[in-house]
Amino acid sequence: MEHKKPTREEAEEAVRTLIRWAGDDPARESLKDTPKRVVNSYSEIFAGYNMTINEKISRSFCKKPEFDDIVMLDDIRLESVCEHHMLPIIGRASVAYIPNSKVLGISKLARIVDYHAKRLQMQERLVVEIAETLSELIAPKGVAVYIEAKHHCMTTRGVHKDSAVMKSMHMEGLFKEKTYRNEFILMLKK
Ligand SMILES: [Zn+2]
Repeated sequence: MEHKKPTREEAEEAVRTLIRWAGDDPARESLKDTPKRVVNSYSEIFAGYNMTINEKISRSFCKKPEFDDIVMLDDIRLESVCEHHMLPIIGRASVAYIPNSKVLGISKLARIVDYHAKRLQMQERLVVEIAETLSELIAPKGVAVYIEAKHHCMTTRGVHKDSAVMKSMHMEGLFKEKTYRNEFILMLKK
């Protein structure tokens, strides 16, 4: 899909339009810098579109074919944006894998989460995309991704169910087997 990225000025103008649409005056003293601040925060929120993960991030580990221990990074802060309402999805992610011959630095696991989360997203797709990227990078014997998050489109608007937490899980490879699946679930922070 071909699309030209709007300029920063165009993005700020769009924010002024929304302010007017809400019923306020974008020229009002304390709103004057708001478009700039909104665009700045959007750059952060959507940082995933400008991130790369194809840098050299894997390092070899061991070739012991019988190695089937689980490596897991738990409780990774998750900040995403729902693609239907452009409102925050805030929660935590847990990513686990069973190495084949390569392992990842743990900060890279968190980076893979951000790479996919800091975009317009659906939680159901997010767990799959994180798992697929991990598989592409180090071809592990299994990958499991669990996310639980609150969707602001549900907590602060719409049905206003402020305590509702959405949970989603995706497993590939060895984690489809009951033993590993159960082990992963046991390892999830209570
Ligand atoms: Zn939504």
